[in-house]
Amino acid sequence: MPIYEYRCPGCDSKFERRLKFSEMNEAQSCPACGSEAERQLSVTAPLPVAAGVAASCPTTGKPCHCGGWADA
Ligand SMILES: [Zn+2]
Repeated sequence: MPIYEYRCPGCDSKFERRLKFSEMNEAQSCPACGSEAERQLSVTAPLPVAAGVAASCPTTGKPCHCGGWADA
């Protein structure tokens, strides 16, 4: 389940919500002031590695297609 980052335009606080996909478009209110918060674009969730591309390959230190674990 993805975790979405929200930022409150009212008090500038940030918080995270773990939402189901069916809930991701629902408005989230700020826990501090109750204003409707804006969802940030960054998703901090552990997402499945897209198309086998590792964010950072331990072998090369760069994004690659070995899934992060190149055969030795
Ligand atoms: Zn707030």
